[in-house]
Amino acid sequence: MADTTPDTMLDPLEPEYDFLVIGAGPAGLMAALTLALEGAARTGAGKPYRIALTDKRDPWREPVACAEAVHRARLESLVREVEPAWVRGPVDGAIFVSPDGTPVQFGQKDTGYLIDRAVMHRRLAEQGRERGVHCNFRARVTGVSRLENGFRTVTYTVPGEETPRTTRARVVLDCGGPGTGFAEDENIIQGNFDVEPAVFALVRGPKYPVNYIQMFFGRNYAPGGYAWLFPRDEHVANVGLVVGRDYAHEAPARQALKTFLETTYPGSEILTFQGGAIPCGYPDAPLAVDNLYKAGDAANMVHPLSRAGILEAMTGGKYAALAALETIRLDQERDRAPHYAAYKEKWDKAYGLGHRRIARIKKAFMEVPDATFDRAAHALAKLPPEKQTLGRILLTTLWQSPMLLWKMRSLFLSK
Ligand SMILES: Cc1cc2nc3c(=O)[nH]c(=O)nc-3n(C[C@H](O)[C@H](O)[C@H](O)COP(=O)(O)OP(=O)(O)OC[C@H]3O[C@@H](n4cnc5c(N)ncnc54)[C@H](O)[C@@H]3O)c2cc1C
Repeated sequence: MADTTPDTMLDPLEPEYDFLVIGAGPAGLMAALTLALEGAARTGAGKPYRIALTDKRDPWREPVACAEAVHRARLESLVREVEPAWVRGPVDGAIFVSPDGTPVQFGQKDTGYLIDRAVMHRRLAEQGRERGVHCNFRARVTGVSRLENGFRTVTYTVPGEETPRTTRARVVLDCGGPGTGFAEDENIIQGNFDVEPAVFALVRGPKYPVNYIQMFFGRNYAPGGYAWLFPRDEHVANVGLVVGRDYAHEAPARQALKTFLETTYPGSEILTFQGGAIPCGYPDAPLAVDNLYKAGDAANMVHPLSRAGILEAMTGGKYAALAALETIRLDQERDRAPHYAAYKEKWDKAYGLGHRRIARIKKAFMEVPDATFDRAAHALAKLPPEKQTLGRILLTTLWQSPMLLWKMRSLFLSK
């Protein structure tokens, strides 16, 4: 019988599914929900699709490895309702801090949300489950076979059992996060490109405006990346940093964060300290093959500079599910291929092409000397706050760095 305890979801996995989603992060939750909602619309009064959503752990287990900032309107466009409990608070602007500590503040009311991912994950899982999705959050997938006789066999382990179990599915959606390694020998994206280390701590003590996110640029903070303070509430903030892949040896992320905390927020209380990986380049590889789809971090969908990946993953999961609903009844790969292409095209239009352009200038941006950021910040700091728009901040920084300006021509001149 299905486990109905509120703290986990342990629906026993059946021997066969139409769709099996690996990973219940933003990509997988959105994929499973889309399959349930859109699948029901397509099957009508007929036999409903059998859908499984697996994870190796409860996706609401805290702390979720994330700073939890999202663009408000984009989140609202992806889900039926942003429930009040998902929102820690509004983001009304950002404070950019230059290497010598000069802050530049720009405001834009209601531009974003700081969300409570744990709550959002749980609700999205519940919504899927209410629509018939089998959720098992103690199933660690260890292998996905090639497509044979219309099915892929999925091997998984459960706690306390040595022998792996198997199930099979007509379509598998790998939403398992960075570099899951499934189908490494097939022609499909792997989510292992330009992977950067990121670490964060939940910290009590620093003083900050609760509706502003803060970002610190400079080699002294986080070479090749940036450090951040994103409020959780008025008492606790998520303080973290991401280091560029090329700099990870020179500045190990954990050590960099310890130094950042000691120097920028001395005396603050560290409640938890955790790391993660961010795959944030644009490898331009197929997103699907033989009824295996990849979405989210498993498909390298993170923005190369901001390192935002939540809405990107949700969008990818949704598009992958829509394409999967088209290919499930098609026997021939040549008939499925146009739907794979449509999935990639939609992704590219929404985010991918932008990511490709940004990825091209990323290295130049990472090499901007600290003195350039400082000069730009000093110039901007003289302006009244209402004149500090994001465009002006970008232009002023570019103006201080002709080399970056030259390299950024690719943003405007090519697709
Ligand atoms: C420190 C840090 C801060 C970040 N801050 C932000 C931010 O503020 N805003 C933003 O937009 N993005 C942020 N990101 C990026 C964002 O967190 C990711 O891009 C996003 O979570 C990707 O969602 P996903 O569903 O693809 O993968 P994930 O969220 O990684 O979810 C994958 C799920 O798959 C499960 N899983 C993995 N392997 C298996 C397996 N073998 N079997 C079963 N289950 C498996 C995992 O347990 C997990 O629940 C941050 C990332 C990090 C590391």
